[in-house]
Amino acid sequence: MNTERLINGLEALKIPYDQRAIERFIQFHDILDEYNQHMDLTAVLEEEERVDRHDLDSVAILAHVAIPQKARVIDVGTGAGFPGIPILILRPDLQMTLLDAQQKRCLFLEDALKRMELTATVVHARAEDAGQSAEHREQYDFALSRAVASAGVLAELMIPFLDIGGYAVAWKGPKGTGEQESARRAAFLLGGAFEKLIPVQIPEREDWQHMFLVTKKVKNTPRMYPRKAGTPAKKPLA
Ligand code: SAM
Repeated sequence: MNTERLINGLEALKIPYDQRAIERFIQFHDILDEYNQHMDLTAVLEEEERVDRHDLDSVAILAHVAIPQKARVIDVGTGAGFPGIPILILRPDLQMTLLDAQQKRCLFLEDALKRMELTATVVHARAEDAGQSAEHREQYDFALSRAVASAGVLAELMIPFLDIGGYAVAWKGPKGTGEQESARRAAFLLGGAFEKLIPVQIPEREDWQHMFLVTKKVKNTPRMYPRKAGTPAKKPLA
């Protein structure tokens, strides 16, 4: 991996790190490479882009949003562990849950966490089902999600997981600006209040328009949400 690129990026974003974190990033890249030989886990990118698109883009939240020590965090549709694993590498104090509908990805995540000596809970489930279960519903301080669905759909997949006062943060590209209104309308139905769009600058990627859409949970989610698996995407609330 391009360690210098990672360190320069973390410093430019003013995100604290230690030597153990850098070792774990290197190890995570190696484990991804190993699995990618026989599994379609992540797009194969050249080294610099990989650091920027996966690691720095994931941890950029730490430069913009204050996540308290030991906060309960769920990464919805984590895939190969983004953004959850890079965030956990820098913040091993967090109580991280990584949720994905694909079992082979969950098996990869379990193995990677064990080998990096990191603690997180891996949940193999659809967000719609986990969001209706007593174990996960309204149990988190933060719900994070990247590259899973449009903001109006994501609201239904994320907000049911949040305790009142918690935040949903959706990673978005240039389309995020146009998705704000549907995020706002869907959030209203789900007990959330859309708060803000935060523009994100990834170091040395001035042409990338990345942003976070942030929604606060203000009251309990009505029992009918999330609707059954597949419905949020087929019939978005907004
Ligand atoms: N978040 C990762 C990233 O940024 O690289 C993965 C993105 S990948 C394009 C989308 C992932 O979301 C897939 O791993 C898929 O299985 C998962 N996913 C999509 N819909 C889901 C749902 N309703 N519940 C749980 N996982 C879901």
